[in-house]
Amino acid sequence: MAWGFDTDLEFQGVLDWMDGFVKSKVEPLDMVLEDSYDVQNPDFIKLVRPLQSEVKERGLWACHLGPELGGPGFGQLKLALMNEILGRSRFAPIVFGCQAPDTGNAEILAHYGTEEHKAKYLQPLLDGELVSCFSMTEPHAGADPTMFKCMAVEDGDDFVINGEKWFSSNAKWASFLIVMTVTDLDAAPHARMTMFIVPADTPGINIIRNVGVGTEPRGDGSHGYIRYENVRVPKSNMLGARGQAFAVAQTRLGGGRIHHAMRTLGQIRKAFDMMCERALSRETKGERLADKQMVQEKIADSWIEMEQFRLLVLRTAWRIDQYNDYLKVRKDIAAIKALMPKVYHDIVSRALQIHGSLGVSNELPFTGMLISSYVMGLADGPTEVHKVTVARQILREYEPSGDLFPAYHLPRRRAEAITQYGDLIERELANW
Ligand SMILES: Cc1cc2nc3c(=O)[nH]c(=O)nc-3n(C[C@H](O)[C@H](O)[C@H](O)COP(=O)(O)OP(=O)(O)OC[C@H]3O[C@@H](n4cnc5c(N)ncnc54)[C@H](O)[C@@H]3O)c2cc1C
Repeated sequence: MAWGFDTDLEFQGVLDWMDGFVKSKVEPLDMVLEDSYDVQNPDFIKLVRPLQSEVKERGLWACHLGPELGGPGFGQLKLALMNEILGRSRFAPIVFGCQAPDTGNAEILAHYGTEEHKAKYLQPLLDGELVSCFSMTEPHAGADPTMFKCMAVEDGDDFVINGEKWFSSNAKWASFLIVMTVTDLDAAPHARMTMFIVPADTPGINIIRNVGVGTEPRGDGSHGYIRYENVRVPKSNMLGARGQAFAVAQTRLGGGRIHHAMRTLGQIRKAFDMMCERALSRETKGERLADKQMVQEKIADSWIEMEQFRLLVLRTAWRIDQYNDYLKVRKDIAAIKALMPKVYHDIVSRALQIHGSLGVSNELPFTGMLISSYVMGLADGPTEVHKVTVARQILREYEPSGDLFPAYHLPRRRAEAITQYGDLIERELANW
């Protein structure tokens, strides 16, 4: 039996290198470059490509991938420790070749793609030459995919797609989109939809606008509101079997959700570090903020919540490595997905408060982080839905009492105990 919380020395060396590299070379990119997915931008090519080469030389490129896909195969536990470092910076995931949603899309292509799909889409995606988009949510429905309407109708050797999609992240930068469509209206709700690869230059993909989050300028965001108008794709672009889109989507979501949690931990620690530095630096009424008990409470609560969340993420990652089956860790993944926005939100709120006016200003990142905490409660499914999953999974492990009073009703337990031990005890148990 092995039960420990140590990181082996050799791997700690890797983490230390990553930490130094991200702080000194990658975090500054967040200050000078706009969009981390604009891979054809000349400034991206000039600044980001050399750093990606350095990461590749170190054998740390695409650290989420197993050797079968050309990655180093660290497993989820080590990946959690790595992603915690990468989560500090907007550009770090792309510098290390493990950014969402491309990681999840790569998983889909690896599982369901043909050899041709792998050569044409998967390999360049893994090499970081292009980025991709996952186009599932619709303007009228998100959390309940059985309500989707975007249709793909068979026509000779092709399917023709018509309908709208909403919040298709990075559609404007993507070379291809993975689109979830209704193909079999009369089938059971979970067997109605089929997934397709749609190359971005296919005629009829009209981006109505790019929606931004929070205070991003209107029309200049990165989440595409797309109208697919007579978009024709060959049948060979189907991913998985017809009607299997739900299963295909699940392939990306398990890993995607825990990877978000790993990176969010990096953001949470960043906010926590800022809170502590400020508490030690700012004075009011003759003492440091750090000496005030209500500030101390904020720091203590934040550390406790951060460490609890971290342990849950690490244990979930460990369990994925043990079972190699996302279905067996559904409850754990849903739990961290539900917990993540709250811990992120609460710690950032305290950090913001401790910084006073500077905290709400646009000279510090807290307001953006607060919006991100809400994003984490929506992207890949709202918190409520994940809590339902946790509760359902837990309740499977219990049985109803089947009696008027519950199994743990004290009179009943006492009667059972008397039957079990009464003869051995001298006291008059029946008179209690
Ligand atoms: C930043 C960001 C990036 C995204 N990127 C993508 C992407 O790349 N591709 C893509 O396809 N989608 C993407 N999404 C969309 C995301 O998957 C949806 O926002 C999410 O599934 C919720 O759908 P909705 O926004 O339509 O909310 P709705 O379905 O309208 O739900 C609204 C609210 O209703 C409540 N609710 C919903 N269902 C339940 C329930 N069962 N029980 C209790 N309460 C409930 C919740 O409070 C929920 O937040 C992204 C979203 C964000 C914020």
